Amino acid sequence: MPQTLHEVFLGRAAKALGIKEEIHELLLRPAREIRLTLPIRRDDGSLVLFEGFRVQHNNARGPFKGGVRYHPSVTAEEIRLLAGLMSFKTALVDIPFGGAKGGIACDPSKLSVSELERLTRAYVHQLRWDLGPDLDIPAPDAGTGAREMAWMREEYEKLAGHAPAVVTGKAVTEGGSAGREEATGHGVAIAAEEYARHAGESLAGKTAVLQGFGNVGSYAAKFLGERGIKIVAVSDAKGAVYNPSGIDLERLTAHKLMKGCVSGTYGTESLPSEKLLELECDYLVPAALGGVLTQENAPRLRAKVVVEAANAPSTLEAGEILASRKIPVVPDILANAGGVTVSYFEWLQNKEGASWSLERVRERLGETLRPAARAVFERAQNTERSFRDAAYEIALERLQEAALKQVP
Ligand code: NAD
Repeated sequence: MPQTLHEVFLGRAAKALGIKEEIHELLLRPAREIRLTLPIRRDDGSLVLFEGFRVQHNNARGPFKGGVRYHPSVTAEEIRLLAGLMSFKTALVDIPFGGAKGGIACDPSKLSVSELERLTRAYVHQLRWDLGPDLDIPAPDAGTGAREMAWMREEYEKLAGHAPAVVTGKAVTEGGSAGREEATGHGVAIAAEEYARHAGESLAGKTAVLQGFGNVGSYAAKFLGERGIKIVAVSDAKGAVYNPSGIDLERLTAHKLMKGCVSGTYGTESLPSEKLLELECDYLVPAALGGVLTQENAPRLRAKVVVEAANAPSTLEAGEILASRKIPVVPDILANAGGVTVSYFEWLQNKEGASWSLERVRERLGETLRPAARAVFERAQNTERSFRDAAYEIALERLQEAALKQVP
């Protein structure tokens, strides 16, 4: 089996830290993998089967934690990789969670709301003994959001009674946290800001290109824009738009809301989607799906820095090419850790029956992410290694210590 970027960097960190092979092997593997067949009735009465997954990678530092993705390309391999990334992410930002991931291979745009609800409930029903506020806590990922989280909570509570902390990413009216929806995109901007501070520059006046304008991409655009960055190009699954003088974000957001896509936003020209990643810019922010930076396009990227808002956007080959081209990459386990950080705050609030203000959430997000980012950049500088190497080493130090204690 060819190795993934995650496996390679885990191996490099294990070697650099002198971690025993047995612990390295333990952290390569998920603790549990659950594969589900999910039968539901379509609205026309026909029965259809979907394949679902939950991979629980590691819970040495706290309950399994990770999003649930709805996308046609979901596979066991992809969910396994993403579950492993979660364990490293939660360790890197030092929150008391482990790592997990789930998914259903489906195209949500081809299902009615009631079909999606039945599918979501079937998923949780089958996993009812494997989830729980202190066991495994799902959250939104690509293709899911607050609506799916509400269905998940309700379905779980049929069995367990009041248990709002069983999922995070709920709407504020359903026991969610202020600032959770924006958290991943906000964290992307904080990571970019800390990178700029480390590089001795300011974000103001810089340009950014964003792939993906869903939850993460749209909030990353907003918070980068607030820091004075000009967003010159944005894409979604239906197309890409471009304006070298900067896209008006309010217009873009309103257009997306009305038309369901970014294409056709007033004041922008359309661009072939495959050209977007290769545009000249300061910050390239992939915020859609994984594997989009490849050995084909990596030699042609003209960004000064890549900030990985999506999970695993770089293939192993792209990672190597970007390293040889000395294009710094702020890795996913740091750049998009804002989401799981505020999920942790939501979980805490649910457990305490408390409700924090948006200001408090934002402040604590900064207090969690900034030291983690600074630790990564400083370690990379001191060891003359990449940001990803530094991030994996910090996470692995924490994880291996906890994982060792778990071994009987
Ligand atoms: P989302 O479903 O809200 O948005 C995904 C966006 O990507 C949409 O705009 C979609 O149109 C676009 N897209 C899909 N295919 C595309 C393509 N080929 N080209 C361009 N755009 C395309 O998902 P999201 O929650 O924003 O997640 C995006 C990424 O961020 C995923 O990799 C996810 O794992 C990661 N992530 C999400 C969170 C979170 O809190 N939601 C947290 C951490 C990481």
